[in-house]
Amino acid sequence: LIAITDVKKRFGENEVLKGINIDVEPGEVIAIIGKSGSGKSTLLRCINGLENIDEGSILVAGAHLAPDEASLKALRLKVGMIFQQFNLFPHLSAGRNVMLSQMVVKNTPKDEAEAMARRMLDRVGLGHRFDAFPDQLSGGQQQRVAIARALAMQPIALLCDEITSALDPELVAEVLAVVKELAADGMTLLMVTHEMQFARDVCHRVVFMHEGRVHESGPPEDVFGAPQTPELRQFVGRH
Ligand code: ATP
Ligand code: MG
Repeated sequence: LIAITDVKKRFGENEVLKGINIDVEPGEVIAIIGKSGSGKSTLLRCINGLENIDEGSILVAGAHLAPDEASLKALRLKVGMIFQQFNLFPHLSAGRNVMLSQMVVKNTPKDEAEAMARRMLDRVGLGHRFDAFPDQLSGGQQQRVAIARALAMQPIALLCDEITSALDPELVAEVLAVVKELAADGMTLLMVTHEMQFARDVCHRVVFMHEGRVHESGPPEDVFGAPQTPELRQFVGRH
């Protein structure tokens, strides 16, 4: 579904991605782990077209990610992304937040966008909070609205960058429960996460990044149970 081949990315002199190869199958749930600065966020941003790559290729559903505006826009329609910060519009209700990008980006008619927003808020357990404003919602609820907003665009895959890192510990579980349900429903997920237990329980594959490379990858039981490299052993030992 997503084919990442020999991808390199530099910021000035700093080569942040040094040749990344990952093939993502439809329905696959992949955890990306690694220490700070290893290039995890940059990789997701490249997949989503938020950053241009310097070398290599990224194919999403068979289409090349070319750096022109039209294809980037088409790509962002196909791949959803959720961040640590929820980035909801504070002056719009939860429902309007979910409606907005559909209407702006996809020109979805208002009544259709609203029906979709209600369905997606329902899906994340917030069907009853359509009219609530972000400051009336907990962090976990706000992040679930952000997930509903991404889902409303009907993405073929969802990229999640540390989506529980800004949450109070007691709110992490409700967001992970939503992600777990999406995974069970067959959504293709690439998630950068520090939630190692979640990666073990839910993900099909774990990719360990180190200094801009995929240092090790495999099923969670191998990556966590029998790490092959000293770098991964050290990382697993600390988490
Ligand atoms: P963390 O776990 O802290 O989120 P990460 O693995 O997500 O780290 P990245 O954010 O991808 O790491 O950053 C990788 C490297 O790229 C870092 O050295 C960072 O300073 C650099 N970098 C990231 N974005 C930019 C940018 N826009 N301009 C310049 N350098 C950047
Ligand atoms: Mg990051």
